[in-house]
Amino acid sequence: MGKGGSSKDTSNIAHHKGTPSPVRNRRGQKGTPGPGGNRGDRLIEERIHDPYKTKKKLPEPTICPECQALFQQGRWTWAEIPPNANQELCPACQRIRDRVPAGFLTLSGAFFQEHREEIINLIRNKEESEKAQHPLKRIMDIEEQEGETVITFTEVHLPRGIGEALNRAYEGEIDYQYADQTSILRVRWHR
Ligand SMILES: [Zn+2]
Repeated sequence: MGKGGSSKDTSNIAHHKGTPSPVRNRRGQKGTPGPGGNRGDRLIEERIHDPYKTKKKLPEPTICPECQALFQQGRWTWAEIPPNANQELCPACQRIRDRVPAGFLTLSGAFFQEHREEIINLIRNKEESEKAQHPLKRIMDIEEQEGETVITFTEVHLPRGIGEALNRAYEGEIDYQYADQTSILRVRWHR
């Protein structure tokens, strides 16, 4: 267990929906001035405010006891586990344990509802292929909220990539929001 992303829909992180978060950069518009500039791309690249980023220098090799990801040469990978590895939860498993998603993808609309299974499968497949390369890229949960489907993620690149993939495959409307002072990304796709 613990690979992230159960196969069934769950609703056990509903307490996140009320999280207040000052938001800017809606559709790339200029937001309120803030430290570090307000370019969302740069925020994603630097992830300077991410409390879940591997901050201290972990001894290498370190193994995550939950998902068995291996930290070596400065990054988390899937690899054969060497004997006597240090143990520490990887950032993805920390987020899953704390139920603190980094990314949100909200799906809505009549077209989505008609093609829900196909679209969710596309998203799951995308997660599987990304996670195979990058252990920290995972879906946390898929839940229904007031007629919308909300998917939560352990990091921000995956929901962004999935949003772009949905837009390529189906068009529709897409919107990205970056929360201020954090590295949280909220993507909405509607069709
Ligand atoms: Zn882990």
